[in-house]
Amino acid sequence: MTPRDASSALSEFLAAAPRDMPPAVLAALRDSLDLQQKGLPAQVFVEAVEQSAVAISIADRRGKILYANQAFHQVTGYTPQEVVGQNESMLSSKRTPNLVYQTLWGRLEQRKSWSGLLLNARKDGSLYVAEVTIAPVILGDQVFYLGMHRDVTQVHQLQQKVSNQKALIESVVEASPIVTALLDEQKQVILTNGAYRRLAAELGQEPMNAILHCLAETPGWHWDTVRATRRNFEHYEISLALPRGATRWLNCSGVWFHQGDATPDYFFEPQQHTYLLLAASDVTTLKRQQEAVATNALRATLVEQEMVQGLQETIEGAIYQLQGPINLIQAALNLLERRSDESGSNSALRLALRQAVDAGQNALSVLSDAMPQVPPEHFTAFNLNELLRDVLSVATPRLLSEGIEVDWQPTPVLPALIGRGQRLRSLFKQLIDNAIDAMRGRRRRELRITTAVDGGHLVVDVADTGPGVPDALRLRVFEPFFTTKSGHRQSGMGLAMAREIVNEHSGTLDLVADYPSGCCFRVVLPLKPL
Ligand code: FAD
Repeated sequence: MTPRDASSALSEFLAAAPRDMPPAVLAALRDSLDLQQKGLPAQVFVEAVEQSAVAISIADRRGKILYANQAFHQVTGYTPQEVVGQNESMLSSKRTPNLVYQTLWGRLEQRKSWSGLLLNARKDGSLYVAEVTIAPVILGDQVFYLGMHRDVTQVHQLQQKVSNQKALIESVVEASPIVTALLDEQKQVILTNGAYRRLAAELGQEPMNAILHCLAETPGWHWDTVRATRRNFEHYEISLALPRGATRWLNCSGVWFHQGDATPDYFFEPQQHTYLLLAASDVTTLKRQQEAVATNALRATLVEQEMVQGLQETIEGAIYQLQGPINLIQAALNLLERRSDESGSNSALRLALRQAVDAGQNALSVLSDAMPQVPPEHFTAFNLNELLRDVLSVATPRLLSEGIEVDWQPTPVLPALIGRGQRLRSLFKQLIDNAIDAMRGRRRRELRITTAVDGGHLVVDVADTGPGVPDALRLRVFEPFFTTKSGHRQSGMGLAMAREIVNEHSGTLDLVADYPSGCCFRVVLPLKPL
């Protein structure tokens, strides 16, 4: 029912009102009908304008002020008496661009309202930003302008401050050399900076996937726990394998923070969103320096290991060589003693032989005592890519001097391997040394090392472009003392030792069958050795 329908219905009802209707009710209904027909009393509108918290003024078509309310006084400092008769331009600070006024008046001339910001001056001269709406009020051929404005200086200052701070933070974060990204709880990247995008270009993929993958491989870091406990973390070092064999070392830290939802839906029931700010500083240079120190130490360790191994082999050989003559002298002495028992002669010769046997036994025991003892190594967790890189850096001088091209193709992220680091370094050094020896004098000299994950195993291929191993010798090359290197100083124990090391890790070491050009040794190591 429209107001007009309601009004005529009430009018009809009052015309034939029941006789027993209380006069008070009839009077109230008549008042209501009166209100509906004549509209609200004008005084209601006057009071509404007067009490409004918005500064209201009414001007004629030239901008001369005819009326101003109380709030106008509060906002501008001018009392209504001071402004009535003056032009609205008395509020102008003379710093609002003329174009704004032209637009304002242009709208009003078209009998349309205008809204915008003006820079006004109060009575005391102080400036304020006014959010102004001016609407034309047309009564017959008369035009008035209703001006409504409020001081939004604080809002403007706040907005400016926020936007300045935002711009400052954004430019600092953007220019920061630290790789920075903001993640939501679903690991979605919300924001990134320039360093992050440069890393993405280098990696050729979304860095966050690789970073989170590497972090997940780091002991003590699990996304579910970090997210559930909202635990901040710092100084987790990870390495990312870049295309073409380069490596980027990053020191990662994460800080959780909460942000209230600003949408009106959550005005009375605040809702918080949680984000993780992940910052990763590049420590590759530092790491390289540390690696150089570690490589030198490793080189020294491997040289020492080779020396110890050589010494062990020499002493074992000497014991073996000495044992034969001692056994012979002992046999001769035994024979002589049996005969002497019968004749009682040759006591001087027996004494001399006994002394020779004793001296020989004594020499054997001195040699045994001189055998260097290597304490057993413990199993620890490490990254096989890093271990291989270490061994390659130790072998670099030899590889360079032999003119060998290295094709190093690690799988970017490898799970941690539990094993004996020193022993595995010796194993891979042995395979690389063999490959270098095999390629000597060859026209094409290329060493290719790849790592891969296959189910629960890590697979490392060490391939060379040497002459390869003939089928007939495929099994024999792993036998102790077997060597194809005639006159070589090595004893043919290298691959036997390599296989022994792999066995200690419950893995396998084999030659890849039908390898097309050269030879490829494949090491397969279980990720969880028994
Ligand atoms: P003006 O010469 O007064 O005006 C600048 C330009 O506006 C001129 O180039 C002209 O093109 C145009 N112009 C001015 N008067 C008219 C007109 N009568 N008809 C058509 N075009 C015209 N100004 C403020 O700075 N602050 C306010 O809070 C404010 N409130 C206003 C409220 C109302 C209801 C109205 C109608 C106007 C209001 N104005 C306000 C505008 C004000 O009237 C002046 O136009 C303005 O202040 C500029 O004054 P001026 O002396 O610098 O230049």
